[in-house]
Amino acid sequence: MVSWFTVDGCHTRARPAADGSYGEIMSQTVRVVVIGGGYAGVAAANRIASADVGADVVLVNRLGTFVERIRLHQLAAGTSAAAVDFAEVLHPAVTLRVGQATAIIGDVVVLTDGEELSYDYLVYAAGSVAAKPEGMGAAYTVDDYMSALELAEVLKNLAEGARVTVVGGGYTGIETAAEIAESYPALAVRLVSASPVAHSIPQSNRRKLLRGLRKLNVAVEQGVTVSEVSGCTVWAGPFAVPTLARDSGLLVDGRGRLLTDSTLTSVSAPSIVGVGDGATQIDSPVRMSCQAAQTLGVHGAATVLARIAGEEPAPMSLRFVAQCVSLGRRDGLFQVTNRADCVTRIAIGGRAGAWIKEWICASTLKWVRAGTVRR
Ligand SMILES: Cc1cc2nc3c(=O)[nH]c(=O)nc-3n(C[C@H](O)[C@H](O)[C@H](O)COP(=O)(O)OP(=O)(O)OC[C@H]3O[C@@H](n4cnc5c(N)ncnc54)[C@H](O)[C@@H]3O)c2cc1C
Repeated sequence: MVSWFTVDGCHTRARPAADGSYGEIMSQTVRVVVIGGGYAGVAAANRIASADVGADVVLVNRLGTFVERIRLHQLAAGTSAAAVDFAEVLHPAVTLRVGQATAIIGDVVVLTDGEELSYDYLVYAAGSVAAKPEGMGAAYTVDDYMSALELAEVLKNLAEGARVTVVGGGYTGIETAAEIAESYPALAVRLVSASPVAHSIPQSNRRKLLRGLRKLNVAVEQGVTVSEVSGCTVWAGPFAVPTLARDSGLLVDGRGRLLTDSTLTSVSAPSIVGVGDGATQIDSPVRMSCQAAQTLGVHGAATVLARIAGEEPAPMSLRFVAQCVSLGRRDGLFQVTNRADCVTRIAIGGRAGAWIKEWICASTLKWVRAGTVRR
């Protein structure tokens, strides 16, 4: 049994029946709140707003600017602003609410300033954050805009020959060390990793990356664990996720990611859809990436739209293509994967690799904007 009630004289909303279904929704306006204005959240908000189903879409984001997170190492090194006005990427019918969501209680999102946003559907797109281990508290990071900006200021003021240590042998660490070394050739940049650098890709392709780092004078130290910060140290290890879903009592995995089914619906709250780095499908986890986040955002929107139409949402089928790494502005690696994100032996390196990576970074913005049909 679906119950109906009026909120403020203008909105009629539906509460799910005991079995979690919504039946046929006949309201004129459906309230959709999206937490997180990154790749996944913006992609979802735009598609819901442009579907013309009478949805009131509110996007809650900490910053009033859209951050191109995949360029934050460039922001630190001074080769990109990594930020775009939300007006350029958001559908005009989406209301941007700058602020931080601190709790999800029932069908209400509570913000830091105490405002409460009621929703019929919530898209949880809170993304990921740096997870600095003990001893790394004073390290800089490139995981969010303000942190990358802080690092940019520090780098600008370092004396010639000063040492910069980037910790983390994954793609973020590699890109960060290379970008800094190219922009600041007078600094002594080293990349330190407990495991072999880029250990997940074939040897021949790893060699390309290591050669590129050498050309930029990045000293690579593998098998070394850094336990304390000395000088300018940048932590670029694996990401964690915000604790909002866990703190709100929603079911999460061991890393705190909102657990969803294959339609991206939260397994503990049928009106919540989880997309991007901050959520994971219970039986099909995927690598945290911009590549996945956008597709998940689009599918999350389709799930919400299906429910609004009273239809059964379709399961997600995610297809990976490649993994891309930049080594400054003139070198890079386009590592081809199969659809399940397993690397193959095929890769394009050098200038061509750099060009493809840059083309992909530029295309992500077009992708996020897609569905932004001006009314
Ligand atoms: C330097 C760097 C380079 C990268 N390069 C690549 C790459 O080349 N390719 C690739 O595929 N991936 C790359 N990634 C990873 C990629 O950026 C992430 O996987 C992607 O951003 C995830 O998108 P998202 O929308 O899930 O989350 P995010 O982009 O993290 O966006 C989440 C948003 O939600 C906001 N938010 C979080 N909690 C709240 C809250 N409680 N209230 C309000 N707002 C909130 C955040 O401020 C943020 O704006 C890179 C990451 C970094 C840091």
